[in-house]
Amino acid sequence: MEKEQRGASKTHVLLVPFPLQGHINPMIQLSKRLASKRLKITLVSTSSARISMEGREADSPVEVNFISDGYQEGKAETMDEALERIETETSLSLAKLIEDLKTTEYPAKFLIYDSIMPWMMNVALAQGLEGAPFFTQSCAATAIYAHVHQGTLKLPLPLEETQVMLPGMPELRSNDLPSLVYDPCSYPALHKLLLGQLLNLHKASFLLWNTFDGLEDEVVSWMARQWPIKPVGPTIPSIYLDKRLEDDIDYGLNLFKSNSDACLKWLDSKGIGSVVYVSFGSLATVGAEQMEEVAWGLKNSNINFLWVVRESEVKKLPTSFLEEITERGLVVSWSPQLQVLAHKSVGCFVTHCGWNSVLEALSLGVPMVAMPYWVDQPTNAKFVKDVWQVGVRVQVNEKGLVEKEEIARCIKEVMEGERRLEMKRNSERLKEMAREAVDKGGSSDKNIEEFVRKLIHN
Ligand code: UDP
Repeated sequence: MEKEQRGASKTHVLLVPFPLQGHINPMIQLSKRLASKRLKITLVSTSSARISMEGREADSPVEVNFISDGYQEGKAETMDEALERIETETSLSLAKLIEDLKTTEYPAKFLIYDSIMPWMMNVALAQGLEGAPFFTQSCAATAIYAHVHQGTLKLPLPLEETQVMLPGMPELRSNDLPSLVYDPCSYPALHKLLLGQLLNLHKASFLLWNTFDGLEDEVVSWMARQWPIKPVGPTIPSIYLDKRLEDDIDYGLNLFKSNSDACLKWLDSKGIGSVVYVSFGSLATVGAEQMEEVAWGLKNSNINFLWVVRESEVKKLPTSFLEEITERGLVVSWSPQLQVLAHKSVGCFVTHCGWNSVLEALSLGVPMVAMPYWVDQPTNAKFVKDVWQVGVRVQVNEKGLVEKEEIARCIKEVMEGERRLEMKRNSERLKEMAREAVDKGGSSDKNIEEFVRKLIHN
C-alpha cells in the first residue's frame, strides 16, 4: 500500500540536513516517512558530506541531490569559520538548485530545513517556496535557548551551583544546562547558530520536531504556547518500531564506515542483556586521560563491552589496551548503532547523550549510563536520569574527569543494581510510547498526515 502511494502527488519537498551524521540520520528517516505519504521527496545533502559517503542503492523512493557547502579538503579552518562558510555557500547553492528545478516536471514547492540552518527559510521565501524547520534536538534544550533569546535566562550564568527554574522543566543546575548557556563565549558562531534557530519561526508554515507525545509533554506545551510546534518523531526507521514500512534502503549518507557483520556476529555470541554498548557519537572528542579511565573502567567492570572508538580517537587508547582485551570486549571504529541497540545481547548503553542516541535508546528500550560532554547533552542526561528514570549519570571529579571506578559503578548499577528492573520497565514503557506515536493514527503520524494534507491541497 505504501508503494502505491508513492508518486501519487507532484508536490515536491526538499529536505536539507546540516552536514553532520546526527543531523543527516533523522532527516533521512523523516524523508522516508514523507515519501511513503504521497509526496515527492528530495534529500539535499551538501558537498562535504558527499566526500565521505559510501555508494547508495539505486531506485529508492527518496532522491538524493547535492549542493555545495564550499568545503575544501585539507583546508584548515576553525569551527566558526566553517559555520560561516556553510551559511554563505549553501544559501547560494540551494537558491540555484531551486531555480534549476523550476523548469523541470517537479519544481520544488516546499523546503524542510535543519533548524540550525535558519538562513534556509529566507532562501525558500525568496524563491517563492514555503518552509519549515525540522528540530533535531530535544524540545527541552531548545526551550532553554528560547529563554535565553527572550531574556528570561540571562547570560553568562556563573558556573558555580546555580539552580534554574523554567516552565515545564525540572529544577536545573548549571551542569544540566546546554554548555553554551554557561559558556557563551566559546564558539561564538555555534552559539549564534543555536540561538538563531528561533529567529525565523514566524516566517515558517510548520515547525516539525524530533520528539513525541508523552516524552517531554510539559515543555512541549510551554513551547506550543509560543509557537505552533508539531512533534513528528522519533525518526527511528519504522522497521524497528511499527514495522509498517519495509523500506530499509541504505541511502549511502554514512560519513563513517562500519564493519556491521563483525559487530553483529560478536553480539550473537553473547548472552541476553549481557553487553554494555559504549559510544560517544560522531563528534565528541574525549581527552586521552579520560579515554584511559573509560578503557580501564570497562575492563574492570568484568562485563562484556562493545566500544565505538572513532579512527581519529584510537591513538588515545592506552598502550596495550587492545592486546589486553579478551573475547569479553570488542572495539570498533563505527557501529550499526540501531542494529546494536536492537540486539538482544545489549543491556546498557553508555552514551554522550546526543539527542539521536537518546531517542534511539528510548525507542529500543535500552537503559543508559549518561556521560554528557557539551551543547544539549547535559540537558538530555538530566532527563534520562531524573525525568524518565531510564538510567544513571556519571559523577565528574574536581579535575573534570570521570574515573574508572565511577564508570564501572554506573555500568553495574544499570546492569546488576537494585534499580535495574525499574529502569528497564521505564525504558520499555517509553519504547511502547514511541511505537504508538509513529504507528498509524498515532500522535506523530497524525501530525505528519496533517502536514502532508495541507501541502498537497495548498
Ligand atoms: N551512530 C552510528 N554508529 C556509531 C555511532 C553513532 O550509527 O558507531 C549514529 C547514531 O545512531 C546516531 C548518530 O550516529 O543516529 C549520532 O547522533 P547523536 O545525536 O547521537 O550524536 P552526535 O554524533 O550528533 O553527537
